[in-house]
Amino acid sequence: MSGPPLVPMIHAIEAAEKPVVAAIEGLALGGGLELALGCHYRIAHSKARLGLPEVSLGLLPAAGGTQRLPRLIGVPAALDLITTGRHVTAAEALKLGIVDQVTDHNTVDAAVKFALSVREHSLNARRISNNLCPPPSDLDALFEGAMQKVRQTARGAVAPVACVQAVRAAATMPYTQGMEREKELMATLFTSGQARALQYCFFAQRAVGRWSMPSGARWDTSKPRPIHKAAVIGLGTMGRGITVALAQTGLSVVAVETQEKQLMEAKQAVSGMLKRGAKRRGVAPVLDLVSYNCNLQAVADADLVIEAVFEDMDLKKKVFQQLSAVCKPGTLLCTNTSALDIDHLASQTPNPELVVGMHFFAPAHVMKLLEVVYGSRSSPQVVATAMQLGKKMGKVSVAVGNCRGFVGNRMLKPYMEHAFFLLEDGATPELVDQALEEFGFAMGVFRMSDLSGLDVGWRVRKEDGLAHPGMALGQAARVRQGRRYSPLADLLCEQDRFGQKTGMGWYQYDKPGGRVSRPDPWLHSFLEEYRARHGLVARRIDHQEVLERCLYTMINEGFRILEDGIAAGPEDIDMIYVFGYGWPRHRGGPMFYAGMVGLERVLERLEHYHQAHPDVPYLQPCNLLRRLVASGSPPIHRWREVIKKVRSQL
Ligand code: ADP
Repeated sequence: MSGPPLVPMIHAIEAAEKPVVAAIEGLALGGGLELALGCHYRIAHSKARLGLPEVSLGLLPAAGGTQRLPRLIGVPAALDLITTGRHVTAAEALKLGIVDQVTDHNTVDAAVKFALSVREHSLNARRISNNLCPPPSDLDALFEGAMQKVRQTARGAVAPVACVQAVRAAATMPYTQGMEREKELMATLFTSGQARALQYCFFAQRAVGRWSMPSGARWDTSKPRPIHKAAVIGLGTMGRGITVALAQTGLSVVAVETQEKQLMEAKQAVSGMLKRGAKRRGVAPVLDLVSYNCNLQAVADADLVIEAVFEDMDLKKKVFQQLSAVCKPGTLLCTNTSALDIDHLASQTPNPELVVGMHFFAPAHVMKLLEVVYGSRSSPQVVATAMQLGKKMGKVSVAVGNCRGFVGNRMLKPYMEHAFFLLEDGATPELVDQALEEFGFAMGVFRMSDLSGLDVGWRVRKEDGLAHPGMALGQAARVRQGRRYSPLADLLCEQDRFGQKTGMGWYQYDKPGGRVSRPDPWLHSFLEEYRARHGLVARRIDHQEVLERCLYTMINEGFRILEDGIAAGPEDIDMIYVFGYGWPRHRGGPMFYAGMVGLERVLERLEHYHQAHPDVPYLQPCNLLRRLVASGSPPIHRWREVIKKVRSQL
């Protein structure tokens, strides 16, 4: 860092004998706000935003922020701002007591005027570090509650916990001692590795916007097309969420369903979501931006159509053919498929360059991830348009190539399959989920599977010829197409155990649609019978084995994706996992995590497990991983050089 160190400077300002007034315009985040807290008064422009966002980078405000803010606005409000890192508007800052005045005019002029008006006043009480925190009623209960809350939401992140500890020091110690504590806590955060992961995420999130395609097309040379009117076809769970997300950006949307009854139900649901969203954001709902129609002709003048009908290739093909006939020339045709072949769909239209995948995640108006899937013939302008639209919708949009499952679901497959193998080998869904949740996942693999529905994967496996009734019994049940296969999920589906929606899956729920999962004794004895039938001997499986087998296979698939050019760089994969699959942000994403673990170690463990399970081909370490290790395991920002070499040799 260049310039004077912040802490002595803030002390000098605070100790000054003349009143110092901070004039805040634009952003006063982190060190900027800490500097302002050293001043005797603060005046903000009405458009200013303030906050201490350090926690989101795995740090804490270490220039006295954790000591001064609670002294100024009280412990509860300071805890909220410091542990969440959220920004506040000038108006809220005034209400909280962070600033003394808000102006719509020239902030510096207002501050000078203000300084002159207070020149006779004593400054003692204005030096925040001199003051005690306003005493809350029950300090212990307050901090206990705060600690519990952050531990629950932080899922293993250490910075929010350190923030609570630092604020506690402000409430219980004199200022100088509190500052010592702040410094100590900051030092532990620096060495935790989480700060590095969170800073990586900060930059990776921005890097994915600078997309590129194997053809050489890039974000900075591809111009997006203007979109004024959009259309959504199929108003199931996904289509409804997409309609809401589009309307909330101010676009007019034509929403199409085939049946009148479904259309009316969807209309009600979409209006409800728009109203609730508007209420939360304190704006008027935009209900009249959406028009509803049973006739596909209604999309004739849309600039962009997103198809979200059932996940069925024949149906989607038909819809694409119809759209080609109905839409005006140049309309972008997008599909929300989560795995089907974009090129095959594109080949149904006379203009395959206008076709692109926009893969949303449920619920589409909430989840931040959007995979923009380009086919072999998608034009760069069309990709640029989908990427820009995603950004307008507030999504983290990642451009990826076309393959089975794209990036996210392609990596999920070996991860889930491995979880099934772990059950065969002796684990329970609870054990596997606990290991993954302690690692920091929002949800373990079985809880997630129950939530999204076991029938989805079953349908795909049936289409692939991997599952059909009766197949799950008998000799060959655990081998398919020459590799290890687990029919466990198929067996559950045959019993109508589809997860939360049927009230039972890998867990049991109090009712169909219930959300609280409980271990299911039925499932445990089912697993025992299954193992006995197949001559499998259950062994003790520990958390480390769960993590290594599930995560390293997923990571290995990530390396293959990089090798194939389906993702341009490791940041793309990592942001997909952080924003779409509940991967803990403080662990940076699967590829970053592999680097943290050490690529040699990941390679060595994969080799170990591959030897133990030679019938699981995807455990075999991929070429790119070997090459990276052979190149001395460079840091993640230098992987692209090796990736390029490996790709050029393919
Ligand atoms: P998801 O959960 O992926 O959104 P759903 O099965 O819930 O999938 O929703 C698909 C929706 O698409 C259903 O509401 C269905 O009525 C609708 N749909 C199916 N075929 C057509 C079509 N040809 N035109 C318009 N809507 C369709």
